[in-house]
Amino acid sequence: MRPRESPATPSRLLIPILGYLAPRDARLAALAQFSGVECETMPLHEILRIAKDPAVGSRQWDDACLVINTAVLKESCSESAYTPEILDILTDVFRSVLVHGCDVDSFTASLVAQLSNGKLGDIGHAQPGACYTVSADSGAFSGALGGLTFGPVRSRDRVFHSSSAALRAIASIGQDPVLVAHSRNQSNLIFLAGCDLADLGAPVDLFGLEPYFGSVALPILALRALFGDRCWRLREHHASLIIDDPALWKRFGFIKFDRVIEMLDEHRFHMSIAFIPYNHRRSSKIVAEMFRSRPDRLSLCYHGNDHTSGEFMSNDLAFLNSALRIATSRMLAHEARTGVHHDRIMVFPQSRFSTHAMDALRTNNFVAAINSGGWPQDEPNPLIVADVIAPAIMKFRGFPLFFRKYPQQLDRAEIALHHFFGKPLLIGEHHGIFKQPDLLVSLVSRIRSVVPETRWTNPQSAVEDSSLYRRARDGSMRARVYANGGVLRNGSTVAETYLVERPECSENDIDYVALDGQQVPYEVGANGFIQVACTLGSGECRKLHVVYRDNAISSRLHAGICWRTHVFARRRISDIRDMYFSRNDRLVSAAQTLRQRLLGQ
Ligand SMILES: [Zn+2]
Repeated sequence: MRPRESPATPSRLLIPILGYLAPRDARLAALAQFSGVECETMPLHEILRIAKDPAVGSRQWDDACLVINTAVLKESCSESAYTPEILDILTDVFRSVLVHGCDVDSFTASLVAQLSNGKLGDIGHAQPGACYTVSADSGAFSGALGGLTFGPVRSRDRVFHSSSAALRAIASIGQDPVLVAHSRNQSNLIFLAGCDLADLGAPVDLFGLEPYFGSVALPILALRALFGDRCWRLREHHASLIIDDPALWKRFGFIKFDRVIEMLDEHRFHMSIAFIPYNHRRSSKIVAEMFRSRPDRLSLCYHGNDHTSGEFMSNDLAFLNSALRIATSRMLAHEARTGVHHDRIMVFPQSRFSTHAMDALRTNNFVAAINSGGWPQDEPNPLIVADVIAPAIMKFRGFPLFFRKYPQQLDRAEIALHHFFGKPLLIGEHHGIFKQPDLLVSLVSRIRSVVPETRWTNPQSAVEDSSLYRRARDGSMRARVYANGGVLRNGSTVAETYLVERPECSENDIDYVALDGQQVPYEVGANGFIQVACTLGSGECRKLHVVYRDNAISSRLHAGICWRTHVFARRRISDIRDMYFSRNDRLVSAAQTLRQRLLGQ
């Protein structure tokens, strides 16, 4: 074996093929691309031909990580391309190797045993009901996952059997490792068992992240262990609690704002009110002053316009534009009167919206929409696995949709996976949560225990400051933003060149792109992303804005006396329900009946 330098971080994944890309390797390639890792394929016999001359192979693959899909090597036996000696040749040439596709069979067991110098033996099935555990000392690349359990596992999930105490298990099921790091011939090897890799294009109707631990997070963990900062990573993790509906009164249902601000200060978190613009003239001066003077703890964002049933489910773009313009003028009037700034964030009433609503939000230059799951009501569920694990969904007319969660959905595993996938923690609730404020306090403490560096901010800062970063092959930095505004931070001690990208599918609607308010040139890359190049000095922070043209379609919004009476009645009935009836279950039921009879809803 020739002497070698210590392994460097690879920058591309090389996948051997036997005339076609094996389905498992196709899924691995999709996960790698999702993580920011470039992929190449090459026929196995060609790789072996080059590898047999290590001087040539080492030069050619100095920055490559080889994929060993055990099923591909097994299949290659019939083509006589494989002999056990080739493992020595490959690990002599490649500094990084990812071994996956580990099935329960003797061929795979012997291949894994040879590659691990006998430290890994048989492969078996996991015990039903067991859970995955990520090692507490798994390293920085695992983020907040270290020390946590995820599961339960599926019945066909696979584990390595090993009795070697020297083994470095990154993740295990029970006592059996499923993700293992090993050094061989001065190469870094990662062995991945567990379950089959997820198809990122598969349809989903689950919005929790934990079911994707084994099939998505675990293989991404393997990639991060090999590729380090070449993979997309979050630098700032934000959380925001959003309470729907309250008017800014001293007391709204179970909310007493003077008590709430004490609670926010004591437990150091932030609450945003999803504010109904219709209520813009009704704020208490004292409560508004509380919001104006404490933007670190309290903020406002949009919650519809009139909050009539399904107002943003409309397919009438003119109606939607009018609604957004009226909502904006109401919020600006509220800001002028009270001094309370508001976020350009929309939380849809009843979580219902149409694709046209996303169009209207984009051309009215909102920053993002936040919703409790779901998809536009005017189309069947179009969501796929890649949408659910991405920081935001961009497929609805190019306008970013962030998902929020209810407190009871955020156990330690979900919190850690939000951080791992670069998703801000957006928490949705109503005033009723303050009936049991301990639930909120324990959530805040849970978040702090899992991701201590989480920053509690207003929703707009949370989505704008959730940029992902990775180091490119040429040494420069890449940043990816999702909201229509994105904050870029250079945390290093030297100036660095950044290429900032944002998924875009409405290129023709862009008016201009700005950095810190100054228009800058941009390109649309082959991947359909807007790209802007800039340099950030050490510690510098800049803000990117994508500004869209006003599509100028608007109409007079239901301004007739009947509509105004309908909105007035609806708001007053809702207020009575929230202020008085909500504290009595029988009265809540009576209020719902009354609303159905009066409003037909
Ligand atoms: Zn509401």
